[in-house]
Amino acid sequence: MLVYEYKIDGNQKQCAAIEEAIRVVQFIRNKCIRLWMDGERVSKNDLQTYCAVLAKAYPFARRLNSQARQASADRAYFAISRFYENCKSKKSGKKGYPQFQHTNRFVEYKKTGWKLDDDGRHITFTDGCGIGRLRLVGNKKQQIETFPVKDIKRVRIVRRADGYYCQFTVSTERNIEHIPSGKELGIDVGLKSFLTDSQGNTVDNPRHYRKAEKQLGRLQRRLSRKQKKSANRKKARKALAKQHLKVQRQREDFARKQANALVSSCDLIAYENLQIRNMVRNRKLAKSIHDAGWGIFLQWLARYGFLHDIPIIAVPPHYTSQKCCECGTIVQKSLSIRTHICHGCGVVLDRDHNAALNILHKALSPDQNGTEGHSGTDELQSA
Ligand SMILES: [Zn+2]
Repeated sequence: MLVYEYKIDGNQKQCAAIEEAIRVVQFIRNKCIRLWMDGERVSKNDLQTYCAVLAKAYPFARRLNSQARQASADRAYFAISRFYENCKSKKSGKKGYPQFQHTNRFVEYKKTGWKLDDDGRHITFTDGCGIGRLRLVGNKKQQIETFPVKDIKRVRIVRRADGYYCQFTVSTERNIEHIPSGKELGIDVGLKSFLTDSQGNTVDNPRHYRKAEKQLGRLQRRLSRKQKKSANRKKARKALAKQHLKVQRQREDFARKQANALVSSCDLIAYENLQIRNMVRNRKLAKSIHDAGWGIFLQWLARYGFLHDIPIIAVPPHYTSQKCCECGTIVQKSLSIRTHICHGCGVVLDRDHNAALNILHKALSPDQNGTEGHSGTDELQSA
């Protein structure tokens, strides 16, 4: 699945109609959660049926396309079943008890309720919500992609800080023809560099967030000086939200480019399956880790790996930085020691380079060390 996103151009009336549709989605989802909370045992089917009941009872809900209504119910079902799964698997920490939602930002259509113009630059929403015909904005750099309508699995309208966007989720069998390079790479994501590979190359950490952080801080302070509920406060909040969006996009862009470059030039990539969530809990490291945006990077790595049809392998994170990649001697070192000096065989390597080599070795000899299989590609197919 690939997701294409375009900004949309609509007038005030259309924006109000989009907001109304987004509210209906939230309404249906919350009603379904309520049904479950009231003690009904709900299956996916039950919720779909309940959808029809709601549409009968509430004229404003009926205006939303029926598949879009069902998608809202599916989201409620997803929240409920995830909660049960978390309980069943005895996941530590919060189980994610389904909550009522107040901040929904999008409405999702499936195969019906919308129509693309032949030029591919306009989309018309045809249900009773009255959103109507919207222009998809594509600038010179970002050409509007054309894809067969039958491959479009769902269409979402999403609200962001700087306007509304239309997302197309397109199913793709399209494997990019991968040109084999014979290169197999282990990568270590670190704090000093964004990543170090097993050939000793490093990619520096983008400090987007730090740079933009000053600006964020300034906007945050400006916001807190404004009087509650004033028009100026609203303005300041909007500016802050926009800045957050900018940081997020920079990070996404960097992660995507790095992942694409790596996947295009390798036949196999191994990385360490770090528990990112656990690490973020460690306060001192948190900022840098968020900064580097590993999570996003690994997602893109899996996505590109899938498209290129090359293995992306997660290896368990034990001893990758302590072990000597040449002779296997364990060389204890704290985080501050940046060089691996082996007292067994005398090899001297950058700490992260040594780790990257270990990661690659682990991936290539799974019998000895065990790997955790190919990462994410199956999930992505169904996502
Ligand atoms: Zn050694």
